[in-house]
Amino acid sequence: TAKAHGKNHTTLFHPDLRTAHLHHTTLATGLRHARTRGELTLHYQPVIDLATGTTHALEALLRWTPTAGRPIPPDVFIPIAENTGLITDLGHWALTQAITDATPWHHHHGTALTVNISGRQLRDPAFPHTVLDTLARHHLPPHALILEITESMLLATTPTETQRITTLLSDLRTHGIRIALDDFGTGYSSLAYLRTLPVDILKIDRSFTTPPTAADHPQTRAFTKAILELSASLGLDTIVEGVETPDQAALLRQLGAPHAQGYLFSPPVPAPHIDELLHTTPWQHVA
Ligand code: C2E
Ligand code: MG
Ligand code: MG
Ligand code: MG
Repeated sequence: TAKAHGKNHTTLFHPDLRTAHLHHTTLATGLRHARTRGELTLHYQPVIDLATGTTHALEALLRWTPTAGRPIPPDVFIPIAENTGLITDLGHWALTQAITDATPWHHHHGTALTVNISGRQLRDPAFPHTVLDTLARHHLPPHALILEITESMLLATTPTETQRITTLLSDLRTHGIRIALDDFGTGYSSLAYLRTLPVDILKIDRSFTTPPTAADHPQTRAFTKAILELSASLGLDTIVEGVETPDQAALLRQLGAPHAQGYLFSPPVPAPHIDELLHTTPWQHVA
């Protein structure tokens, strides 16, 4: 269609696409220097144990604020980091920084650390060694680390690659590291993946438990109940994401959901805020 509109190369893209492409290129250039310029930070969001009201784990979430500019959301820069290969460097930085931050929290409060891992990182054969080595250097036991993966990251892989990743995850698990399947329920083949992927934890995507109208919406309740039962019957731990209202939390406690995370308890906060947050537990009062 571009040719139909003229010979000029600048019409090769629809103006919006061209702008998006330039934006992407500018961001990729900025992202290349983000780490060395100290523009990256990690925020942490608590995962709550609904039975005790204590903090079970802290999820590390990357933040990028360019020196001259506004923060760029991870949903924008993580895909760019993955497409450009920069994720290897960023992911390594994030994992090391998160382990550094979370080690004292684990030793004082028994909290686990949960870190998002991209597919590219798992395709690196040295990844398990790097992780175990970093844990050992910081004296954080492997059972205190959870790695979050998504099924979408497996969609682009060949069966051979998927097999290699499965082996790699099994290897990490024999060392005591737990694997969580993030955004569970949003993919096309969640149940099929559950049969083959070595995972310990399901993180239920918030779209599943967010009621279209009220928290007692019968369908939301039925879905939540069914997915909690599925997870439990497979012997998996469950973390429900995106809990925003007391009604949602009450329903989850009533249904016996083990763990939840969301703005109701706390948004992701900078590392220096975590100590205070860990001292203000338990969280029963909000549910
Ligand atoms: P995710 O791992 O599923 O993280 C949950 C996202 O939901 C976070 O967005 C979090 O701030 C947000 N959230 C938490 N509670 C609530 C709630 O109650 N309501 C709503 N509406 N949202 C809530 P964030 O921090 O913008 O991160 C977006 C995604 O970027 C993450 O989704 C994850 O896939 C990716 N990401 C973030 N940090 C990293 C990282 O270090 N490495 C990799 N590979 N991906 C990362
Ligand atoms: Mg996550
Ligand atoms: Mg998620
Ligand atoms: Mg997500």
